[in-house]
Amino acid sequence: MTQPYPHLLQPIDLGPIRLRNRVMMGSMHTGLEDRFWNYPKLAAYFAERAAGGVGLIVTGGISVNRRGWLLPGGGTMNAMGDVVNHRQVTQAVHANGGHIFLQLIHAGRYSYHPFSEAPSRIKAKINPFTPKAMSNRRVWQVIGHFARAAKLAKQAGYDGVEVMGSEGYLLCQFLCRRTNQRSDEFGGDIHGRGRMLLEVVKAIRKSLGPDFPIMVRLSLLDLVEDGNTQDEIITTALALQEAGITVLNTGIGWHEAQVPTIVTSVPRAAFRKATGVIKNQLRIPVVASNRINTPEVAEDILASGDADMVSMARPLLADPEFVNKAAAGQADRINTCIACNQACLDHTFANRRASCLVNPRACHETELVYARTQIPKKIAVIGGGMAGMAAATVAAQRGHDVTLFEAGNVVGGQFDMAARVPGKEEFRETIRYFTTQLAVTGVKVKLNHRVQKGELDSQFDAIVVATGVAPRMPSIPGIDHAKVLSYPDVLRAGKPVGGKVAVIGAGGIGIDICEFLLAEHSPQPLEDWTAQWGIDLQSHTAGGLVPKTKLEPKRQVWLLQRKIGKMGNGPGKTTGWVHRATLQQHGVTMLSGVEYLRIDDAGLHIREGGKEQLLAVDHVVVCAGQECVRDTVELGPNGRPIDSKFHVIGGADLASELDAKRAIRQGAELAARL
Ligand code: NAP
Ligand code: SF4
Repeated sequence: MTQPYPHLLQPIDLGPIRLRNRVMMGSMHTGLEDRFWNYPKLAAYFAERAAGGVGLIVTGGISVNRRGWLLPGGGTMNAMGDVVNHRQVTQAVHANGGHIFLQLIHAGRYSYHPFSEAPSRIKAKINPFTPKAMSNRRVWQVIGHFARAAKLAKQAGYDGVEVMGSEGYLLCQFLCRRTNQRSDEFGGDIHGRGRMLLEVVKAIRKSLGPDFPIMVRLSLLDLVEDGNTQDEIITTALALQEAGITVLNTGIGWHEAQVPTIVTSVPRAAFRKATGVIKNQLRIPVVASNRINTPEVAEDILASGDADMVSMARPLLADPEFVNKAAAGQADRINTCIACNQACLDHTFANRRASCLVNPRACHETELVYARTQIPKKIAVIGGGMAGMAAATVAAQRGHDVTLFEAGNVVGGQFDMAARVPGKEEFRETIRYFTTQLAVTGVKVKLNHRVQKGELDSQFDAIVVATGVAPRMPSIPGIDHAKVLSYPDVLRAGKPVGGKVAVIGAGGIGIDICEFLLAEHSPQPLEDWTAQWGIDLQSHTAGGLVPKTKLEPKRQVWLLQRKIGKMGNGPGKTTGWVHRATLQQHGVTMLSGVEYLRIDDAGLHIREGGKEQLLAVDHVVVCAGQECVRDTVELGPNGRPIDSKFHVIGGADLASELDAKRAIRQGAELAARL
């Protein structure tokens, strides 16, 4: 049999170390690295990824000194005590056949504390703290701190280091005129601006010798005004190669960029060509990153010669066994990262421990354990949405005899609808994963079976009620008018929608409906997407920014909410701004503080800012939240099931916080206890 993914699974040498394949788990801050007492958990997290076959792991960013902290009290590598903590991590990875690099970072003006420092005294829009401009002496001192941290990393057992020079952190700030207005030898043209990064590399080389693997993460597309041009980026990459780095990793976009780079609506492998341009200039291996989430996409990038390795961070959170499954020809069993950011980056930016929406064990490996049961039970799960499928598959994996009943003819629940929204096509992967898991774990699936109250009570030891939600229809006069549609009418039943539409409710689903009504294609072709966001993938212009193409809206849409204030706050911090910008690009009229008066043949009558007005729309789509569906269980006055064999989870438990992250985690946690 020919080996699947021959390029991806081919070993590669990085100096003295040989990686077993070309998959790198890229750096990702989990929150565990910031507290020494969490290092056993961090070690378990990385150990599972190493056991899952990944070639190289890069830790989350560890600061080289305290001023470089991203947040107060962040992980630092500046003393022997740090070495002791980190040895737990390196030993756990090596025991599982993996290799691991420590990422060395200094956050510069992104440091979220009052003692931040940067090349020049220029505040970042995304940070309330203004940095101090570093003196020339201080720059040399910090270069020394990078070398010191690298030396300690080696003592801790790391196989190499990654120097963070992208995403808008300190070394990247030195590289760009946007943030570097210095007149000393660390400013001026690209040679001056790139000097700090080069001196860091030289200092590490001098300290650790010619063989110690050094990777630099360099920004290929800054996606901010006054970012670097392709010529400047190539100049820096060539200089880094001359300075003796072992491998070049690539980064796309600064954190303050107003262009999406990692969310689910970014086309897969959107930036591979930018990587290909750099790779053609260099002898050393080059790593591609951003929105690579399947072995097929990764293999294609390597086979086409756009890169020598691929970096995947979130996909390895979603499935630690990504590589082993790919190597075994079982890619259909991979739990694919859907780039939602809801449990990883949104947590990180809220200073919470990261996890994964589709894999709640991520970063909780020692706490959420799916141990084989000693007392197998007969378990019924009612409802084939995310909560039900998570509960069923984990329970079956643990050795229980599980039957899943689904009233419809497909599983997937709310995700089945979400996956129809342009830009959310990835959600289909989660349905594919759980469908495969149902088969792999031996769950008996009964589709088109609507369970009646009492029907299963005597046949099962435990009954999991995951019957989800029903859309809420608010009591507006005329709500039963023919022009009123529910969101399942639009997304699932595919009912025709006219050219003028009012959307009632501006939560996650209201926004989804707007995007569904306005998008031209699903999925969006790469060239349309780059034109919409004004990206030059070749970075011929500074920062790779070009004027955005003005969109011709397909429909006239009003998005409405009763609350006064900012619209579309439902989706997370890292994704909400993309949705809001998309709606603005499509000319959606967003009205808050709205009172709904009535719906009739003329349209939707509202009061807004004290004035009555008519929205002369063809249709009104209601996205006003949901109500729990739990008609298969007898509830007591406290709202809990009377019979203790019943367990209510997901939207059936709490419609007001209907959320796939909570649903999957609740299903998995329940099944881990049953
Ligand atoms: P939601 O976020 O709770 O939003 C419901 C909207 O309906 C609100 O804008 C609310 O605003 C309005 N509303 C509530 N009761 C109403 C009433 N009686 N009459 C008129 N308007 C009413 O719910 P959702 O949009 O259905 O989303 C459900 C869940 O799915 C959310 O928890 C969200 O996390 C998740 N989701 C997330 C995403 C994402 O991209 N991350 C996307 C889709 C869904 P006013 O009360 O101010 O009018
Ligand atoms: Fe991927 Fe979402 Fe999981 Fe983050 S939370 S790793 S984006 S699936």
